Amino acid sequence: MTPEMTTSLTKPLNGGLATVEQDIARACKEARRDPATVKLIAVSKTFDASAISPIIDAGQRVFGENRVQEAKAKWPGLMSAYPGIALHLIGPLQSNKAKEAVALFDAIHSVDRPSICEALAKEINSQNKVLELFVQLNTGEEPQKAGVAPGDADAFIANCREKYGLQISGLMCIPPVNEAPAPHFALTAKIAARNGLKNLSMGMSADLAIAIQFGATHVRVGSAIFGHR
Ligand SMILES: *Cc1c(COP(=O)(O)O)cnc(C)c1O
Repeated sequence: MTPEMTTSLTKPLNGGLATVEQDIARACKEARRDPATVKLIAVSKTFDASAISPIIDAGQRVFGENRVQEAKAKWPGLMSAYPGIALHLIGPLQSNKAKEAVALFDAIHSVDRPSICEALAKEINSQNKVLELFVQLNTGEEPQKAGVAPGDADAFIANCREKYGLQISGLMCIPPVNEAPAPHFALTAKIAARNGLKNLSMGMSADLAIAIQFGATHVRVGSAIFGHR
């Protein structure tokens, strides 16, 4: 075997994308779910266009970024080269970046406070853009983490709808790193159900199968596709 062959076998051109797609298919089968109900968001934060292009070439069209500025530097070029890309903001949003975020992204997973609701409502109206919005929950009630506390979620979602006129499509959560994720996914699913929300953004590289078992409709997978950051 030549060295070139060894390289191509251990590091396929599409990174871990095919493996992640297989993992999602297997998890859906085990959960008796239609794989078409689970959207893979390839989280490309910290990776540049040269790492992203092969993943697009392999057929992936939905990507996630956690910083508005980084996404603005990377994606307009890629989006003009490849039609049909959907970009999801999965990291915290500042009100003063709402204008740029609404212009660039197709979905925002980090709606978690009134100032963001107000800024998003204003920009969605003035840019006349349809965006998918997720309310982020802080299911572990971790002080350093963004998101709405579970006990405040119902009132916050009601406010998003009634006070700000926002269409909320689902909930997002990031379980605490050192805890079993299942109870956090279950709690997120329960709060979504009682608020009439269909979409659940939960599950990352390490726990996507468990998230799918608990009803995830959007899994956000970075390192399993692109490698370590
Ligand atoms: C980075 C990130 C991910 C992806 O994490 P991996 O462990 O690399 O799959 C998912 N969600 C959010 C909010 C992130 O910031």
